[in-house]
Amino acid sequence: AGQLVIVGSGIRAIADLTFDAEAQIRTAQKVLYCVADPVIERRLHLLNSTAESLYGLYGNNKPRIETYHAMVDALLAPVRAGLRVCGVFYGHPGSFAWPTHQAIRVARRDGFKAEMHASVSADASLFADLGIDPSQPGCHSLEATEFLIHRRVPDTSSHLLVWQAECVGDPGFNFAGYKRHNFDILINQLQKFYPADHPVFIYEAASLPQGRPKIIKSTLDTIRKEDLTGISTLYLPPSIFNEIDQEMCLKLGL
Ligand code: SAH
Repeated sequence: AGQLVIVGSGIRAIADLTFDAEAQIRTAQKVLYCVADPVIERRLHLLNSTAESLYGLYGNNKPRIETYHAMVDALLAPVRAGLRVCGVFYGHPGSFAWPTHQAIRVARRDGFKAEMHASVSADASLFADLGIDPSQPGCHSLEATEFLIHRRVPDTSSHLLVWQAECVGDPGFNFAGYKRHNFDILINQLQKFYPADHPVFIYEAASLPQGRPKIIKSTLDTIRKEDLTGISTLYLPPSIFNEIDQEMCLKLGL
């Protein structure tokens, strides 16, 4: 019977590919992938000659949601035909990724075995490169458009990661990059919660094993949208510090 496994290729090409992901790719009867660079793409073709890119499902001015539905259909078709299918997505396949979760939901709903395997996500690289620990004092991750349209309140006492900032308020796609026409609105909204000159880092993890991360430090009032790419994540350090609750400490016996 057909089955589906979704794995991640990690952030650093080849270096982040786990033994498990590699074994899944090698042994699948059909590999479909959506990865960010040609080095890992080449590797996938060497590991499995059935490997085929899903990137062509994107289109200029085509709503991304349409592409995502097409990806789900593309992943499911060979499963329905009885094959063991491996979907490979860059980073962690279930982090800020809709089609992967959806494909698994649909596969299971239709009676097929389906699972997702974890991998290195952009935030894992960010913690290492920026030297922050998500436990101290906590970490809040938000998708840029979600932050705006659902009136989300960032936890300013935690580290804040804003994902998909380049395509904020842009449901479309362009192979040449996004227009960034709503970026100022994102910054203005962040300034409702943070001081105007609060630090903000534009972070891009290296995608090659020997590469260096790209880290541009600026402030909310000086950040330049020209410095963003489709793989930048914004990082804002906490702006407030919560004092220790002495009463709670007593209650806990600390
Ligand atoms: N599944 C991916 C995320 C896909 S959503 C993962 O696990 O990392 C795309 C968003 O991920 C980008 O807008 C950006 O916020 C973040 N991202 C992807 N690659 C990145 C990189 N090399 N450095 C920093 N952030 C990255």
